[in-house]
Amino acid sequence: MKKIQFKNSSQTETVGKIVCVGRNYAEHAEELGNEIPEFPLIFLKPASSLIFNGDNIIHPSYSDEMHNEVELVLLIGSDIKNADDESAENAIAAYTVGLDMTLRDIQSKSKSKGHPWTLAKCFDTSAVVSDFKLKSEYKLTGDEKIKLSVNGIQKQHASLFQMIFSPAELVKYISARMTLEKGDLIFTGTPAGVGKVNRGDILTAEIENIASLENKII
Ligand code: ZN
Repeated sequence: MKKIQFKNSSQTETVGKIVCVGRNYAEHAEELGNEIPEFPLIFLKPASSLIFNGDNIIHPSYSDEMHNEVELVLLIGSDIKNADDESAENAIAAYTVGLDMTLRDIQSKSKSKGHPWTLAKCFDTSAVVSDFKLKSEYKLTGDEKIKLSVNGIQKQHASLFQMIFSPAELVKYISARMTLEKGDLIFTGTPAGVGKVNRGDILTAEIENIASLENKII
């Protein structure tokens, strides 16, 4: 079982399921030639795919096109189903910065055949998170900057207010379709600037006032 860590706390939390949101920034949907969604696009990653700040991201041998995706990640702090606006917000216990590493060549093949994205999104080390910042310590304003650099060169840079669906809207939508449990994570989608990364690259990412991470691809 994977356990996440918190900033300024010795508390840990066992991770349940990882729910991910696709196309939650308009410019990113457009850069991949996708329509801006009317409803959140949802997929899952297994907890076994999770690694942490400082761990190596292992590039699978069966892909020639791994992409970076930096994302705000939410920790669910209480079991919740059919949340309303208030209970959705209250169910979010902490935030961090994460990476939804994606095998874009495998995903494109899957999309063209109408197959699931599983093999493009669920490989070992495909989900990266840093330490979580408890909401009791810092309440997200929505204006925080989110950014990612590859070998020190900035590739992704946006503000969280550019998200099409807010954290609470995502929790409300997802909880109406599957129970969210204490310890579940939600990856909330990536801004524009995704691209091919290679073995040896160092990825650094940050969400202002929340967390940062640094991971090498091997
Ligand atoms: Zn993503």
